[in-house]
Amino acid sequence: MLGALLLLATAVVSGSFIAPLSVHAASASRSGSAVSRGAVLRDDRQGRQTRITSKSGIRSVDPCMMTAGAEKTVMILFGPPGAGKGSQAPKIVETLSIPQLSTGDMLRAAVAAGSEVGKQAKDVMASGGLVSDELVVSIIRERITEADCAGGFILDGFPRTVEQAKMLDEMLEGSGDTVSLVLALEVPDEILTERICGRWVHKTSGRSYHVKFAKPKSLVDGATPSEETMLDDETGEPLMQRADDTEEALTKRLQGYHEQTVPILAHYAPAGVVSKVDANTAPENVWESIAKVLP
Ligand code: AMP
Repeated sequence: MLGALLLLATAVVSGSFIAPLSVHAASASRSGSAVSRGAVLRDDRQGRQTRITSKSGIRSVDPCMMTAGAEKTVMILFGPPGAGKGSQAPKIVETLSIPQLSTGDMLRAAVAAGSEVGKQAKDVMASGGLVSDELVVSIIRERITEADCAGGFILDGFPRTVEQAKMLDEMLEGSGDTVSLVLALEVPDEILTERICGRWVHKTSGRSYHVKFAKPKSLVDGATPSEETMLDDETGEPLMQRADDTEEALTKRLQGYHEQTVPILAHYAPAGVVSKVDANTAPENVWESIAKVLP
């Protein structure tokens, strides 16, 4: 059953469920060496070598003159629901040429497929709760053995608890790897509520819209958002709202994020791999900040 899930998961990370919030995708070329745990150096976009300094474990970059070894990039894309992980991820994937592994997408695919894993996850996901650590860890454990992860991968929505982070570290230790970058997108809770509760998606393509910030052409001024008025720009098919994109579920998701997920930053801070980015700004500005801290 897990095998079937992972087949689906592969389809998911290959792009069909990636949800770009912004239609203005910026592109960038890859340069520089990977930043590994404990490393203090990296190459910048111009090929200059730079030192990674740590202030409370949070990284900033200063020019200096030494060399870092290139290692597998294991990146955690970190942030609350609605922070813009889905819209920024495709640009990170393109820049680093490594896949994005979204546990949320994998689980939604399992729910849609009606698999055993999906049945187990469905209700807890709809209520905004977390599925068991064991379940998501087993999904990731198998997925990262796939050939496309050989050069590294971007974890999106995982780890969600310090326990999961410890299980991830152990898993990576087996292959001599470590988490090389935790990229934390920061947005205040009150902004997230408006972003999330107005979000509609085109299920097949993953294209994401918003009733206020990214309206589909079909939603004329003054119309009430509904399955009749919210249609995908490209296919004309009805858009849908995620079952957990409601105010009630979001309250629970945000509470879980602050209580269980945010402590992960303190877990990785001593390694000097955490970079925080202000994501309460236009997507192109967020991308500019992200591009500066990518390996
Ligand atoms: P996301 O798309 O990342 O917001 O995930 C949607 C839902 O999937 C979450 O609200 C959880 O119910 C479940 N989920 C995704 N990733 C995890 C994880 N690492 N641990 C536990 N539950 C998860």
